[in-house]
Amino acid sequence: MYNAKSLKAEEFIDHDEVMATLDYAWKNRHNEQLIDTILEKAKLRKGLSHTEAAVLLDCDIPEKNEEIYALAKQIKEDFYGNRIVMFAPLYLSNYCVNGCVYCPYHMKNKHIARKKLTQEEIVKEVTALQDMGHKRLAIEAGEDPVNNPIEYILDCIKTIYSVKHKNGSIRRVNVNIAATTVENYHKLKEAGIGTYILFQETYHKESYEKLHPTGPKHNYAYHTEAMDRAMDGGIDDVGLGVLFGLELYRYEFTALLMHAEHLEAVHGVGPHTISVPRIKKADDIDPSAFDNGIDDDTFAKIIACIRISVPYTGMIISTRESQACREKVIGLGISQISGGSKTSVGGYAEPELPEECSEQFDVSDTRTLDQVVSWLIDGGYIPSFCTACYREGRTGDRFMSLCKSGQISNCCLPNALMTLQEYLIDYASPETREKGEKLIREQLANIPREKVREIVEKNLVNIENGQRDFRF
Ligand code: SF4
Ligand code: SF4
Repeated sequence: MYNAKSLKAEEFIDHDEVMATLDYAWKNRHNEQLIDTILEKAKLRKGLSHTEAAVLLDCDIPEKNEEIYALAKQIKEDFYGNRIVMFAPLYLSNYCVNGCVYCPYHMKNKHIARKKLTQEEIVKEVTALQDMGHKRLAIEAGEDPVNNPIEYILDCIKTIYSVKHKNGSIRRVNVNIAATTVENYHKLKEAGIGTYILFQETYHKESYEKLHPTGPKHNYAYHTEAMDRAMDGGIDDVGLGVLFGLELYRYEFTALLMHAEHLEAVHGVGPHTISVPRIKKADDIDPSAFDNGIDDDTFAKIIACIRISVPYTGMIISTRESQACREKVIGLGISQISGGSKTSVGGYAEPELPEECSEQFDVSDTRTLDQVVSWLIDGGYIPSFCTACYREGRTGDRFMSLCKSGQISNCCLPNALMTLQEYLIDYASPETREKGEKLIREQLANIPREKVREIVEKNLVNIENGQRDFRF
C-alpha cells in the first residue's frame, strides 16, 4: 500500500502506485486542459507531485512540450542563474563484492585491474586535482568490507582535506559509497562530508534483484532505505540518482520523484541533488545488452521535467555524456557538472597504462577542466568552484529554506565570481583567464545589493593580491 511517510521501501516506492501513475499519465498524454493546469501549477515554482510530473513527461503535444522546455529553462534561470558548479570524481578503490551486471567492477570480473589507493597515492591524486583547479570532489569506492572498510574511507577523507598544495585545497568532499549503517553514516558526517550520494540504479524491485544477483547490494530494501539511515545518521544533504537504461525510464522517473517526496515527507528535506547518469560502455559491459536505453531527446525531456518538478534540487551531469549532449541539456536544469574527470582508480597524477585499466566506464567528454571552463564561458555560463554552503553550515532544511525563499542566490553569484577569479589566476590558460575576467566584470553588475557588490569587488582585488577563500 503506497505511503510516502512509510520507512519501508516497498511502501514509499509502491509498485502499484508507480504503475497506476504511469497508466494515468499515458491516458492523459494528450489532455491539453490537464497539462495546462499542471503547467500553471509548475509556474508557481513550488514543484509538482510525481503524478503531475509523469503526465508532463508523457505529454506528446508539441506546443506543450515547447512550454515545458521553456519553463524548465526559466526555472533553472530563476534558481541557479547561469552558474554551473564544477566537481571531479576521485575513485579510491574498485574492489567490490557485488555482482552488478552493468558495472565492470563486479566481483566476477577477473581481468580488470583491481586497485586501491594508498594514503600516499591519494596525496598525489589530490595534488594533481588541485593543480587542475578543483575544489570539490566526489569520492567513489566499490563495496568491500575487507578492502574498503569505513575506516579506510574516513582516512581517505581526512587525507583529502589535509592536502594544501600551493593555493589549492579541497573544500568539499561528497561521498558515493555503498549503502551502510546509521553508525557509519554518522562517522561520515563527523568526517565533514558534503553530500552523501547513492544511486538507486533502478527502483523496479524485480529488475533490481536480477541486476544485482549477488552481494549485499542484492537487498533492495536495504539499498532503497539507505537515505533514511543517512539522514538518521545526521547527513542532511543526500543525492539521489538512477542509472537510465536499466529499466523503463518512465518507471524510474516516477519512482525517483516518489523517493524525493518520501524524503520530504519523513525528514522535512528533499534530496540535495539528483544525478542523471545513462548506462555507458565499460570494460566487459556492452550498453546495447540493456533494452531500455534512452535517446538524447528523451534524456532532455527527463531533465526538463525533473527541473520543473523539484526546482530546489540541484541536478548533476557527468562526463559520461558527450560535449554535444551536455550542451543540449545544461540549460534545461543542470546545476553541477564534472570536468577533466578520470573514472579509473588513480589516473590524475599519472595516466594509467592500457594494460592496467581500472576505469568504471568510458568517459565521453574527455576535455581538460580548462577546456570545459572555457566552453562554459563561451556558452554564457559562469563556472563556479563554490563550496560555501556546507562550510557555513547551510545544509539540510536550513539550506532548503534559503533556497525556497530565493535568498541563496544572494550568495551563489558572489561566490561564483570570487571562486572563478581564484581559478583564473591560479590555474587557467591565458585565453580562458582573459575571457573569464571579462565575464566577471560584466557579471558584477548583476549583484543586486550594492554593499555585497562592493565587498566582492574588494575581494577580487584581494584575490589578485594573493589572498584566497572568501565566501558568503
Ligand atoms: S556499481 Fe558499485 S556496487 Fe556495483 S559492482 Fe560497481 S562498484 Fe560494485
Ligand atoms: S552558495 Fe551554496 S548553493 Fe550557492 S553555489 Fe555555493 S554552495 Fe552552492
